Amino acid sequence: MRDSKRDHDGYLPESVKSEVEKVVEVAGYLWQKGWAERNAGNISLRINSLVPDDFQFTERGNVVPCATLPAEAAGFILFVTGAGARLRDLIHRKEEVSCILRINNEANGYVLLWGGNAEDFRPTTELISHVQIQLFLQQHKPDHHAVLHTHCTELILLSHHPLFNDEEAFNHALWKLCPEIRVFVPLGISCTPYAVSGSDTLAKLSMEGLQNRDIILWEKHGVLATGKDITEAFDFLDVANKGAEMLLKAWAAGFEPAGMNAQQMAELERLFLS
Ligand SMILES: [Zn+2]
Repeated sequence: MRDSKRDHDGYLPESVKSEVEKVVEVAGYLWQKGWAERNAGNISLRINSLVPDDFQFTERGNVVPCATLPAEAAGFILFVTGAGARLRDLIHRKEEVSCILRINNEANGYVLLWGGNAEDFRPTTELISHVQIQLFLQQHKPDHHAVLHTHCTELILLSHHPLFNDEEAFNHALWKLCPEIRVFVPLGISCTPYAVSGSDTLAKLSMEGLQNRDIILWEKHGVLATGKDITEAFDFLDVANKGAEMLLKAWAAGFEPAGMNAQQMAELERLFLS
């Protein structure tokens, strides 16, 4: 029997609840934008620092064995979306399609603390990749707690264009379109070569890209961004995809956009990015 108190998000501390509500809000935007068809995309939040010292989660059920977790992730408390979950279902059924889990001290399994109420619920099949990226963030970008993978239509389409093979030219083509893109995606996009979804290779390539860029664009698949919270991760993708959309529209209209000139770009960088 499940404890109804624990099934309700009122059980969560306010500090955690507000971050989960941001995920719900962003899930609505992803759906409206057509970036989260069927079970596309997944989300994680590293929430250890949000849990008050005097708050005790109640463990739900036994430890679920997971042999491939990195040892350094012991004790991580993560919000993650479910395997095969439709992100749009976060809007009305978040406790069925997402969960909060804690990786045990041996890092050989995890236990559910909240949510995961759907029958046969399992965390995202990308759990290991999310854990690896969350570890990377803890070590290299400790104020970043959110990881968002989704399918931004225009950015994916651009990953099929020859421009994708020249990362500097790719970023310049987007940055020059309007000041907002240069300023709010300051480190730009990592053009990450195709690798099988959920593979170790893809996780490693993504972490390499995250060292120097704001966004990872997986060739012919999708995008990944991190942020202080899920809203910031979404904003990186929203602004960058606006650039991709404008570029494709200009090409469809039959012209190459002039873009800001070198002097205008330099002025922008001096005012906002130095
Ligand atoms: Zn995907």
